Amino acid sequence: LSEKLDGALHKLKGHGQITEINIAETLKEVRRALLDADVNYKIAKEFTNNVKEKALGQDVLNSLKPGQLMVKLVKDELTQLMGGDAVGINLSGTPSVILMSGLQGSGKTTFSGKLANFLKNKKTKNPLLVACDVYRPAAIDQLHVLGEQLNIDVYSDKGNSDAVAIAKAGVAHAKANGHNVVIVDTAGRLGIDEQMMNEIGNIHAAIAPSETLFVVDSMTGQDAVNTAKAFNDVLDFDGVILTKLDGDTRGGAALSIKSVVDKPIKFIGTGEKMEAIDVFYPERMADRILGMGDVVSLVERAQEQFDEEEARKLQKKIAKNKFGFDDFLNQIQQIKKMGNMKDLLGMIPGASKALKGIDIDDDAFKGIEAIIHSMTPEERSNPSVLNASRKKRIAKGSGTTIQQVNQLLKQFDQMGKMMKMMQGGGGKKMMQMMGG
Ligand code: GDP
Ligand code: MG
Repeated sequence: LSEKLDGALHKLKGHGQITEINIAETLKEVRRALLDADVNYKIAKEFTNNVKEKALGQDVLNSLKPGQLMVKLVKDELTQLMGGDAVGINLSGTPSVILMSGLQGSGKTTFSGKLANFLKNKKTKNPLLVACDVYRPAAIDQLHVLGEQLNIDVYSDKGNSDAVAIAKAGVAHAKANGHNVVIVDTAGRLGIDEQMMNEIGNIHAAIAPSETLFVVDSMTGQDAVNTAKAFNDVLDFDGVILTKLDGDTRGGAALSIKSVVDKPIKFIGTGEKMEAIDVFYPERMADRILGMGDVVSLVERAQEQFDEEEARKLQKKIAKNKFGFDDFLNQIQQIKKMGNMKDLLGMIPGASKALKGIDIDDDAFKGIEAIIHSMTPEERSNPSVLNASRKKRIAKGSGTTIQQVNQLLKQFDQMGKMMKMMQGGGGKKMMQMMGG
């Protein structure tokens, strides 16, 4: 999905202006990418319509390149589609009762163990696992194995085929033994059937969980949405657990489920190990889908239009103290091409501080450019030759004052120092900003 979106968004790069036409083209490809990722057709269409509306209405963000604006809009919309903010689980009640639901093989038992362990690690929680999969003896053993491994108590009643009775007894057992959380693992079928739905519905009614979770294998794609809907109709569950996100999943389920059942995804499973559990953060998921780490990379992408070769040359020059006024002029032109420098720099943590005192107003460039244009090639590449008479000549030629020339020299000097300072680590990013 990520690659396809990248491809779609890439098309916008290089266009100086957002027009209805290139938005439409891009969004068509975004939509195709979503459909390929198993996102429900209606949702994909709604998604692209929303982005389109926002893109056309956007004037504020004109400082960014259209491609970037689109990346941001698509990311924001993805985040919204997946629920916006992270949502925790409801642990009210003594004990708090958590009920697992979902098809066989979706990862209920594994996730029950993971969640118990996750809560136990919070110190204040003392969870009990309850084995209600009465159809497969192996399923009960599986939970016991996990319990032993995690040092968490497991309640089961082998031979009893009444899942509802076991669930109730399990909660009573928890109360009697000081467990403040009960996690009830249940049976699942390969497909949705009436008997299973009745059983989970009856368990739900009998133990009145504070939190009912629907566990779904993210690799099941479009089917996941249908299953989610069927379970939600019966249980009105509180949240979704998306498992097996470590595999080669296309992510479509994550995008669709929230909008179809309007329930938040709360945790993700990213492996078979008990530690492979993560709180679901919609924004991070959107980042992952789009292949973006943070805002800095968003800005970096805006710079992709600049020649990387140029940037490398420039870095070398700075490292060797050979950064001259011609390079400076070149930088100014690049910066102007990018739009509003202050806005771009403002997105980099710490950058606005580092740049304080260095004037980056567009107007300020005018005088600077004039001054540099009035310099001889020698003066540009080797500013140290600039003595009083040369400065006077330059001021006259550029229609500025000697003070302004001096000020520029000082700024240039500061900039050179700053660039050198920033050569390592985050400075590299800064260099790409400045130089392309
Ligand atoms: P249940 O039938 O719903 O209880 O499913 P299980 O918990 O028994 O899991 C079915 C299979 O999926 C097992 O082999 C698990 O190890 C595996 N599994 C569960 N969650 C994950 C996950 O997040 N990632 C991966 N790779 N495998 C998982
Ligand atoms: Mg199971």
